[in-house]
Amino acid sequence: MKIGLFFGSFNPIHIGHLIIANYMATQTDLDRVWMVVSPQNPLKPKKTLARDHDRLHLVHLGIGDNPKLKASDVEFQLPKPSYTIDTLSFLNEKYPEHQFVLIMGGDNLGSLHLWKNYEQILAGYDIYVYKRPGYELGELAQHPRVRVFEPPPLDISATYIRECLQTGKSVRYLVPEAVWDYLETGKLYRQ
Ligand code: ATP
Repeated sequence: MKIGLFFGSFNPIHIGHLIIANYMATQTDLDRVWMVVSPQNPLKPKKTLARDHDRLHLVHLGIGDNPKLKASDVEFQLPKPSYTIDTLSFLNEKYPEHQFVLIMGGDNLGSLHLWKNYEQILAGYDIYVYKRPGYELGELAQHPRVRVFEPPPLDISATYIRECLQTGKSVRYLVPEAVWDYLETGKLYRQ
């Protein structure tokens, strides 16, 4: 199968993420999209980052029963900090039957040249980029490995959702119902 890998901290997952994942899984030649939850970087402050397993759980809740999407914790087992090239190599070895494609926002394409072994990434993998308002794609958009898509834009972020939760505002409809339900229990992002 052709599988798109959508990396994120998903802190927490929101409908912006899910719209992209579903668009890529249904309006391109990808068979599936795996949402890869990035682990807590041990060197970074943990203040606003929920624990790995909470974020993974929320991704499971957000995906629900959509058979095209899958939550992946593959990076939890890899050395930290995780570099995309290492995760890609690991997945290639583990799943030789699949072809992996990288999904990234236009905001990230502009800084791809700063990533570890980015040339190796571009040599070995297709990158499906989705445009984001306000971000120029830069010259890598012309690279033969890069394909550009235009899903409907949605201007929300996990930062905004955390701020709402911290200040007691409702995040209903900004996250899937099951995620909202879980967040309402009040254990995450409140202090
Ligand atoms: P934060 O606000 O905490 O930085 P985020 O909402 O941007 O979080 P991430 O987990 O960092 O979420 O996002 C994973 C990927 O999803 C990133 O590449 C990010 O650019 C992209 N993304 C996040 N929100 C949206 C959105 N509303 N529309 C399209 N892409 C998004």
